[in-house]
Amino acid sequence: MATKRDYYEILGVNKDASEEDIKKSYRKLAMKYHPDRNPDNPKAEEQFKEAKEAYEMLSDDQKRAAYDQYGHAGVEQGGGAGFGGAGFSDAFGDIFGDIFGGGRSQGGSRNNVYRGADLRYNMEISLEDAAKGIESKIRIPVQSTCETCKGSGARPGTQPVTCSTCAGHGQVRMQQGFFSVQQTCPKCHGSGKMVKDPCPSCNGAGRTKQNKTLSVKIPAGVDEGDRIRLSGEGEAGVNGGPTGDLYVVIHLKEHDIFQREGGNLHCEMPISFSTAALGGEIEVPTLGGSAKMKIPAETQTGGIFRLRGKGIKPLRQSEHGDLMVHVVVETPVKLTEKQKELLREFETSTQADSGKHSPKNKSWVDKAKDFFG
Ligand SMILES: [Zn+2]
Ligand SMILES: [Zn+2]
Repeated sequence: MATKRDYYEILGVNKDASEEDIKKSYRKLAMKYHPDRNPDNPKAEEQFKEAKEAYEMLSDDQKRAAYDQYGHAGVEQGGGAGFGGAGFSDAFGDIFGDIFGGGRSQGGSRNNVYRGADLRYNMEISLEDAAKGIESKIRIPVQSTCETCKGSGARPGTQPVTCSTCAGHGQVRMQQGFFSVQQTCPKCHGSGKMVKDPCPSCNGAGRTKQNKTLSVKIPAGVDEGDRIRLSGEGEAGVNGGPTGDLYVVIHLKEHDIFQREGGNLHCEMPISFSTAALGGEIEVPTLGGSAKMKIPAETQTGGIFRLRGKGIKPLRQSEHGDLMVHVVVETPVKLTEKQKELLREFETSTQADSGKHSPKNKSWVDKAKDFFG
């Protein structure tokens, strides 16, 4: 199977084309390449199918979004919002180097052409950076085509020779009982060629490991597990096959104050006993500095107050989320004798009113009374 062409390119439209434009362009292509109009023309049939697939993907909002972000990988393996797990390793601890979907055969008859492996880079970023987006430089080790031998693996001036075991097919037939099975040639590993005099730079591999620095644009609103695809930044292909892609996988660092939930942020806010009772204005932290928030009188621990728009604007959403402030009433500590005296006085005066100042305790006492009959 050849590498897939870009869906937008197939339809000849821009990335920001409207639904209407996509439909129009597809109709034109479908008319032109329709099998009824092009009898016995396999090329036209191929183009018709290609346009049909591109239209099916781009006319579906969800699929289009997945394709925009993750490319073909986002809409293959069952579609939906990408993350088709097949082949993805979940070794999160490993900073780098999981290979997935690599080594797909391009099915050449003389020698096998392989697409370079896709690479995954785990990037840890702060909540602040995720909220506003950043541009970050990453250094990745990558298998690149060897510059000395231009990928042939043979010492410059010499040529690889045809593999004698498979006669250059890259595949050998093995008899197993009644069956004849085709296998990758064990001698040339499918390349169909043998290097007699290996290139000194890559020891005949045709590829060398090199570090390269890439600039990655992390869009504002990314969340845990989001992937950014850098097309063609993966490993070099084998035998002139196309280069793989690099996927940068986002991980959010734990934040001291905020917990994120989609677009919403949550934080815990201690307030004093008297503010809780009398109400008042407190200062709460937000990602963009601090903000003032009113606390109504008679607020209890566990009360949640919402600051609209002080959350994060997730990718593919147009609105900012909210900040949810979870209030905790704090018991005063290190009291002076005078303060203690005031509290005792306060306690005596509230007890005189038969529990009406303690709604929770009152309802608990009522329940207990019912229970003990
Ligand atoms: Zn080389
Ligand atoms: Zn061979």
